[in-house]
Amino acid sequence: MLDRRGFLTALVATSGCALRLPPAPSPSRWTWSPERASLPEVSVRALTVATVQMSPHQSINGEKDRTKRLAPIAVYVLEHPTEGLLVVDTGYGRRTAADPADYPGRLATRLLGLKMKSPLVDRLGDIGRSAGDLRHALITHLHHDHGGGIEDLPPTTQLWVHEREWFAGAQRGALGTYDPLPYAGRSPTYFPFVGSAPYGPFPHHVDFFGDGTVIVLDAPGHTAGEVCVLVNRPTRSYLFTGDAAWVDRNWQDPAPIGPLPARLLVWDWRRSYDQLWRIHEWAERCPDLTVISGHEPANLDRLPAWPGTFA
Ligand SMILES: [Zn+2]
Repeated sequence: MLDRRGFLTALVATSGCALRLPPAPSPSRWTWSPERASLPEVSVRALTVATVQMSPHQSINGEKDRTKRLAPIAVYVLEHPTEGLLVVDTGYGRRTAADPADYPGRLATRLLGLKMKSPLVDRLGDIGRSAGDLRHALITHLHHDHGGGIEDLPPTTQLWVHEREWFAGAQRGALGTYDPLPYAGRSPTYFPFVGSAPYGPFPHHVDFFGDGTVIVLDAPGHTAGEVCVLVNRPTRSYLFTGDAAWVDRNWQDPAPIGPLPARLLVWDWRRSYDQLWRIHEWAERCPDLTVISGHEPANLDRLPAWPGTFA
């Protein structure tokens, strides 16, 4: 963990210097063709639980524009016809709604320009459900803006996380990016990636319900146990990147996030760059895939407004 002096030294030393990127990898060999006609229909909804302020300079390596833009902290609520309700990430929860200075703390709140809207568990009534109906919570990684609301979930909600992430998240990270306060008492189930097969451009995956609808992809880089979640629907597929990509240009260009957060907050930015190339290739080759980046400002306007469902 960085103390205040260490943080300021790192800030001065790194704020202006772009990361020197490795050469582009050669295209990989894979195929992807979900059998859409036989897929059960999983509904998908997005809820913005909070907003932050981020500049292109912070979110895209090599970008000089320091103008702050409003960006979402979102959760995704999936409903499977027989397996019930599942949420991808929790965002911040009731503790942050009550007092952001308590969690994630004054410094993080100020640096992020964090504004809470409403926690997931307070909005499930809009779709005629309650927290007790959430059977599973899939956490892309345990940074506070993705796992801060875990403590709002009842014990009956099964918590899923990457094993590497659970151990990384047990300690407080730089600027409190990890803070186990909301999940320390939980017993998660780990995604069984060990020995699993490739899926699309990713080397390991878990077919969550075993029917091809919800696929969890091992995507380390942003954190040690970052995952992406793919939802295959009869019409098209949605890839929720978590923070494998903050904004669309991360995977479109591809470019990692800006130099300061890459050096301060990211576990291994070179590996995160590998994941961005995978997403880039996938989106380039497959027009039936929509990529939903973790904190893309445009998502605030273009995703269906809660409680509307995705096409
Ligand atoms: Zn995030």
